[in-house]
Amino acid sequence: MTIFAKIINGEIPADIVYEDEHCLAFRDVNPQAPTHVLLIPRKPVESLDHLTADDSVLMGHMMLTVPEVARKLGISDGYRTIINTGKHGGQTVFHLHIHILAGRNLTWPPG
Ligand code: AMP
Repeated sequence: MTIFAKIINGEIPADIVYEDEHCLAFRDVNPQAPTHVLLIPRKPVESLDHLTADDSVLMGHMMLTVPEVARKLGISDGYRTIINTGKHGGQTVFHLHIHILAGRNLTWPPG
């Protein structure tokens, strides 16, 4: 079981900023920007590579939830969303998550 599955079932605490029946968002423990939140599906999907056609409604819902979370957090000057996938993508927790970063001017290209 991943650490995010443990957050979903309440086994370990998290600073949850948003939740609904399909997903939840909580603050990253190692923030890379003044606001750094992770939006995850309740369904234990490992990564983008593990999605199937059955997940299209879920993923549409997640994308529509990103701006809702941003509004709820009072983010007004934009934000960056990142989904790390697999080894070279820098994924360290194998439960799909969307990083939402805000509160500073984020540079491009990323490292
Ligand atoms: P990634 O490298 O894309 O897989 O991102 C995993 C993220 O999860 C990292 O930014 C970690 O800081 C974050 N993280 C790991 N454990 C926790 C936790 N218990 N609560 C909140 N964030 C976590």
